[in-house]
Amino acid sequence: MKYVIGIDLGGTQLRAVLIDHDGDILAYQRTDTAAESGPSGVIAQIDQLINQVSAQVDRQQVLGIGVGTPGPLDPFTGVVLEAPNLHGWVNVPLKAILEERTSLPVHVGNDANAAALGEWRFGSGRGCQDFIYVTISTGIGGGVVSNGKLLLGHKGIAGEVGHMTIQTDGPVCGCGNIGCWEVVASGTALARGATAALQRGHPSLINDIAAGGPIEGWHIAAAAERGDSLAQTLMRREGELIGVGLVNLLHLYAPERIALGGGVTKSMALLEPYMRSIIAERAMRPYQDAVIELTTLGDRVGVIGAAALVL
Ligand SMILES: [Zn+2]
Repeated sequence: MKYVIGIDLGGTQLRAVLIDHDGDILAYQRTDTAAESGPSGVIAQIDQLINQVSAQVDRQQVLGIGVGTPGPLDPFTGVVLEAPNLHGWVNVPLKAILEERTSLPVHVGNDANAAALGEWRFGSGRGCQDFIYVTISTGIGGGVVSNGKLLLGHKGIAGEVGHMTIQTDGPVCGCGNIGCWEVVASGTALARGATAALQRGHPSLINDIAAGGPIEGWHIAAAAERGDSLAQTLMRREGELIGVGLVNLLHLYAPERIALGGGVTKSMALLEPYMRSIIAERAMRPYQDAVIELTTLGDRVGVIGAAALVL
């Protein structure tokens, strides 16, 4: 029996798994990321997690370690160029450091690409040649599997689905572009739209649910479920904007399936009718039969995907 270790390096949480060839989880560990301790502190945490999840098996049976990281990186050399939510992570040769510490082969990949790989190998994309995974949470990310391979592109930076332009005169995105899918349809965008409407004096239950704190996506979903008209309008718009982005992905990559994950998709029941009506209206007929569904790996898609980088 051979095993693989996966590490999902997030700005707030570090997760680790030991999986077998079928994607079954044999060990799972999670800890808060000591982001303020810089690369050396976080790498020490990763090292500890590797030891914990692999304690029950012979190291010789471990094929390698996959690490999913946020922000731009070079997947070929395993150098993290910059990790926006992690203090001091600039040009960190993560692959080389972990290989020296563990004496195991290490593969480093973009976290959204890794999640796509995990969902493709072990989740809803299993058996598909052409598959896309999209995560919609504070941002929008994803990965594209085309002809049975993860699409990396020149320099390994393909598949930034969140940064395709959806609205040419829209708000400015964190990437510097205007009207990206992420800046109009992420959970952050949904909350921003609600905050602006409430500041204009729009009456809504959202205020009561947020109880004076900052507005979050789930406050809007909860208000919509209780029949609040502003919240329902915002969720309708959110569903339509998700649909517009998916229409672009259908036309570009002709996937057999698309899986959706991330916090915003927890409210799919409210979004889905609008998302699907946009696809029915706007996607060309030959693209209409693609299956669009929620991730089947749930919250562990990222860490299972990281392990899948090795396979
Ligand atoms: Zn952008």
